[in-house]
Amino acid sequence: MSGITVSVHTADPPECEQWRAQLQSALGDGFRVVTGADPRAHYAVAWAPSAGFFTAQPALRAVFSMAAGVDHLLGIDTLPQMLPIYRLEDAGMGAQMIRYCRHEVEHLLLDRHRYGRQQRDASWHQHPVREPAELTVGLFGYGVLGQRVARALADEGYRVRAFRRRVDQRVHEDITEFAGQAQWPSFLNGLQVLILLAPLTAQTRGIIDGAVFDAMAKNSWLINVGRGALLDEPALLEALGDGRLAGASLDVSAREPLPGDHPFWLHPQIRITPHVAAVTLIGPSARQIAARIAALERGEPVGRSVDRSSGY
Ligand code: NDP
Repeated sequence: MSGITVSVHTADPPECEQWRAQLQSALGDGFRVVTGADPRAHYAVAWAPSAGFFTAQPALRAVFSMAAGVDHLLGIDTLPQMLPIYRLEDAGMGAQMIRYCRHEVEHLLLDRHRYGRQQRDASWHQHPVREPAELTVGLFGYGVLGQRVARALADEGYRVRAFRRRVDQRVHEDITEFAGQAQWPSFLNGLQVLILLAPLTAQTRGIIDGAVFDAMAKNSWLINVGRGALLDEPALLEALGDGRLAGASLDVSAREPLPGDHPFWLHPQIRITPHVAAVTLIGPSARQIAARIAALERGEPVGRSVDRSSGY
């Protein structure tokens, strides 16, 4: 195994250098890790590179996303059709995602949204305490991250449902699992919290619309930690206005950064964070990618690559 070149690209040069150093240290001798496109590169590691990144590197054997999602890569029209794409699987994001989602679910459970409103009105009024078992939480997206969040919430006593595309083996006995279009209405019916943790694909774009909010319980809560464009934004505003939803926690938005004049910013029922629910940790991510590159070079299996036809 010698003379394998790996190119790394991020828009921020100091961050790119950190990636390079971490990958080089994890790969060791026999691999050469460089920043920026290199015509000799065998593997590329990137986050949203320009179109020229792929045309400049004709010898690539695979590309690795610096994220769990790949929508930013699949949109690049110079990405070679047959080039395998690998994405980060957890790599330290699962624990962050659990903390983020648990915090937002507890915000609802503990009535913090109502107490926040009451504070502004100087109103001292106690609401009955609720237990996690009184809240039904649904995960749309039950993959690497969705499963971790679902299990964590189930372990805390929430009633948890999860929805995925393909029928698969049962993952967890305490989670009510749904799959496929026919089960979508049963999954949504009466949900008090809906967490979006699915990728953005042709099938999922705009899937969270007014009909979804109609099916959920009144005064429910939406948490979007997947991708902004899963959501029909005007439908969300309508549902917040007419009481179908009590509130929404949005970590992602269709346009990022969220434009300064966007109605979400000042909406009293919306909590916004700037796409930080689970950030890429360079160390664990570089080690995961390096292990896969080394395995590919040894001809060993490295798990599932992205299926271009389903978009994730
Ligand atoms: P996975 O690919 O492991 O899981 C995706 C899940 O979505 C799978 O359960 C899949 O179903 C399901 N899914 C895909 N398409 C559909 C569909 N049409 N209908 C129903 N279910 C569908 O991804 P991860 O768990 O690693 O990540 C999920 C997403 O979270 C990423 O794509 C990214 O967009 C987002 N993310 C956001 C972050 C943030 O900071 N806000 C950080 C990290 C990720 P099946 O199991 O049947 O394949």
